Amino acid sequence: MSDYKAPLRDLRFVCDELLDSDAHYQKFPQFSEVNRELRDAILEEAGKFAEQVLAPTNRNGDEQGCQFDSGVVTTPDGFKEAYQAFVEGGWAGLSMPEAFGGQDLPHSLDLVVSELFGQANHAWAMCPGLSAGCRSTLLSHGTPELQKTYLHKLTEGSWTGTMCLTEPQGGSDLSFLKTKAVDNGDGSYAVTGTKIFISAGEHDMSGNIVHLVLARLPDAPAGTKGISLILVPKFLPDGNGEPGERNTVQAGSIEHKMGIHGSPTCVMNFDEAKGYLIGEPHQGLRCMFTFMNAARIGTALEGASHAEVALQGAMSYALDREAGRSLAGVKSPDRPADKLIVHPDVRKMVQTIRAFAEGNRAFAHYLGQLVDGEHYGDGEQKAHASGLLALLTPIAKGFMTETGIEAASHGVQVYGGHGYVREWGMEQNLRDSRIATLYEGTTGIQALDLLGRKVLPDGGEQFGRFLKMIAASLPEMDPQFAAPLGAKLQEWEKLTRAIGVKSMSDVNEMAAAATDYLMYSGYVVVAWFWGRMGTLAKAKAAHSDELFYRAKVATAQFYFQRMLPRTTSLKESIEAGSSSLMALSDEEFEQLLG
Ligand SMILES: Cc1cc2nc3c(=O)[nH]c(=O)nc-3n(C[C@H](O)[C@H](O)[C@H](O)COP(=O)(O)OP(=O)(O)OC[C@H]3O[C@@H](n4cnc5c(N)ncnc54)[C@H](O)[C@@H]3O)c2cc1C
Repeated sequence: MSDYKAPLRDLRFVCDELLDSDAHYQKFPQFSEVNRELRDAILEEAGKFAEQVLAPTNRNGDEQGCQFDSGVVTTPDGFKEAYQAFVEGGWAGLSMPEAFGGQDLPHSLDLVVSELFGQANHAWAMCPGLSAGCRSTLLSHGTPELQKTYLHKLTEGSWTGTMCLTEPQGGSDLSFLKTKAVDNGDGSYAVTGTKIFISAGEHDMSGNIVHLVLARLPDAPAGTKGISLILVPKFLPDGNGEPGERNTVQAGSIEHKMGIHGSPTCVMNFDEAKGYLIGEPHQGLRCMFTFMNAARIGTALEGASHAEVALQGAMSYALDREAGRSLAGVKSPDRPADKLIVHPDVRKMVQTIRAFAEGNRAFAHYLGQLVDGEHYGDGEQKAHASGLLALLTPIAKGFMTETGIEAASHGVQVYGGHGYVREWGMEQNLRDSRIATLYEGTTGIQALDLLGRKVLPDGGEQFGRFLKMIAASLPEMDPQFAAPLGAKLQEWEKLTRAIGVKSMSDVNEMAAAATDYLMYSGYVVVAWFWGRMGTLAKAKAAHSDELFYRAKVATAQFYFQRMLPRTTSLKESIEAGSSSLMALSDEEFEQLLG
């Protein structure tokens, strides 16, 4: 959509009025000079960049897609130039240390900027997004030599990064991984194998590509405990740190996909390619989690962003298109029909989209603040932030991306048949939104992570701490939100305990409940944000006639009355247990195939 508008008013509401960004920055001595004025100036510029540089390339990116010719990948017209402008604007290094040429700003600020870039052009924004994950992984686990060689260029943005996990035989299950890395005896490794679905594995936007590759050393234990992380550059840096000899890693093909056509998804062939170990041998997955955790929050934000794009389209169409008459009496007697927005069903779709777009945005930027706490905080702040991030990241990734698809689908529906054709951008938004529940761990995998690794194993301790945190905020919340949320907290705790008990005798009970449980949790967490936003906006609306606050209160009420009740059906589905899922044997399923 080239008429995309950066949602700056709502972002300021979330960051400043709800999450008090100024007080947040002041928690960290290194950000004593960061404040909302500085953040606002960056936000304004990012908004312009998103609207004027990225959004105009979005439609063409979809229609033209990427081209592949003998290992060379060409991105759609305008992508390379937009990337060059991104590098020149210094956007790549916002939160990187000054020592590597960065601007030493908080991660939470970077996340605000990446929300806008992802909304304007999801496919384009994936390459810088992956490069950010590559930088943080190197920063956390790379040797000083590797950092010196690669981080300056990655921070500048003149080199980009990838994550190479998936192989033909396994994406969710990395224990299948076969790519080999053999010690060359000179501090380097020879990497051989094939990776598939590698986003931005090959392209024409940067001078070099730094692949972070999961591989096995010859003496590796089987399974996920035997995986190491190797950095493999497309060009080996020369003595001056510039791209030198071509390494033996090449794209074999690119995928033809449902959406994000502007993002090259590559098969990457490594043929004794020269690489360097990151972290300890066999500890690669642990290092890669630095990448994956950041990428999961980024992907969650993609879900919220697709809802925002749907909202902008649906709102403007519903206010413009005329069809039928309001059942409560004609609204535009001088016109042959009333606007779509008079119809309760259209309003329901628009408000559902808004509830997801704005509620999920608040959730995402709260996580951004936790990422700051985890990176820059003192011992206590770090422990608090890490515990919450571990619990909330799978909820955010699963819930925001699933509801992003729902919102994008409502976006199509509001346009009727016009939503299904290309012209208005709604069908592209829906196709582009679909990937987010798949990569960075499918919803099913996030759900198992949530229940099987984060909630149940510690006896519900971290989960209990989070419940207490929400409960502590209830006295300050308007009773119309606090009362139903308080009841949901009790129900959530009981439901969790019941799943835990049932799973002790049959682990399928946990797995059968997991995805519904994740969605249930998402609705409750987002209710926490809507309750706080509704309360705040109600207080502000009393002293301001800004329509923004009234709309916030109305959407908070809509969320509590029309969205939160979805938890009841999820609860019933969870309580029904695994029996109907497990009723047929594998053989019986086979017979059904015929
Ligand atoms: C456009 C695109 C871009 C991508 N970019 C990258 C990238 O940059 N780097 C990279 O490494 N990979 C990338 N991927 C790969 C992506 O992360 C994987 O496709 C994803 O993790 C799922 O793996 P899979 O495709 O092998 O599916 P499978 O693992 O085979 O899963 C199939 C289905 O089974 C379910 N399932 C699997 N295991 C379990 C289980 N134990 N319990 C319950 N359910 C289960 C899954 O939820 C899913 O619904 C990309 C994929 C696409 C399509």
